Amino acid sequence: MHRLHAITFDLDDTLWDNDGVMELTEHGHYRWLHAALAAHYAPEQTSRLLELGHADGLADYVERRLRLAREVPERRGDFTWLRLRALEEQLQAVGFNRAEAVVWAEAAMEEFHRLRLNVTPHPEADSLLATLGQRYRLAAITNGNIQLARQPLAHHFPVAIAAGELFTPKPDPRAFLTTLERLDAAPQRAMHVGDSWAEDILPANWLGMHAAWVSSEHDRPLPAGVQRIAHVRELPELLEWLERRR
Ligand SMILES: [Mg+2]
Repeated sequence: MHRLHAITFDLDDTLWDNDGVMELTEHGHYRWLHAALAAHYAPEQTSRLLELGHADGLADYVERRLRLAREVPERRGDFTWLRLRALEEQLQAVGFNRAEAVVWAEAAMEEFHRLRLNVTPHPEADSLLATLGQRYRLAAITNGNIQLARQPLAHHFPVAIAAGELFTPKPDPRAFLTTLERLDAAPQRAMHVGDSWAEDILPANWLGMHAAWVSSEHDRPLPAGVQRIAHVRELPELLEWLERRR
C-alpha cells in the first residue's frame, strides 16, 4: 500500500458515545424553550403552546422536521436549519408572530448547541490524536450538527467539515472529496475512521481510501482496504500493522 498521509475521523460514536447526549439535548432545548416562553410572556400568549405539553409538542416538532427534510431535500442533512424552521413553524402555529418565532427558535437552538457540546470523548482520544497529529494530517467529517470549532477535540483537527451543512451529508462522496482536497491528500494516501458502514466505510472504500470500521459486528465480510477495530484505541496498532505491510 501507499504510505498514509492523512486520517479523517467521524465524530459521533467514533471518538465519543453520542446516544445519551442526543437524548438530553433533544429534550433539554425543547423544555428550555417552553420554560423561557412561560417566564417571558403573559399566560394567554403561551397557553396554546403549553397546552400542547412537552411530549406532544416534541412529537409535533419531530414531525415538522421530517416533513421539511422531504420538502427541501437539499437541506435534509442540515439539522440546524431543519430544527430552526420547524420551531419557527410550531411557534407560529400556536399564535406567535413571525418575528417572535424567529427570535425564540434561534434562542432554543443556542441552547441546543450548548447542550450538544456536552460530549465526553473516549479517554484515549486526546492523546491518540495528539500522537497521530505528529505524523498524519487529521480531519473531522461529521453529519452531526455539533459546533465543530467548539467540540472538545477541535484543536486536533486543522480541517473539519460539517457535511450536512455543505448540503452533501455522508455517504455523498463530496464530503470526503472536499476534506481530502483541503488536506491535500490523495484518497489512496488517506484513511477514514468511522462507525457507520453505510455513511463512513462504503463511501471511503468506494473512493479508494483506506477505512477503519469501528464496530463490534463480526460477521460482515470486509472488502480490500477495510479493517475492523472494536474501539478507536486500537487504531495505532492497525496503522503499525499496515505500515509494516507496505
Ligand atoms: Mg458516527
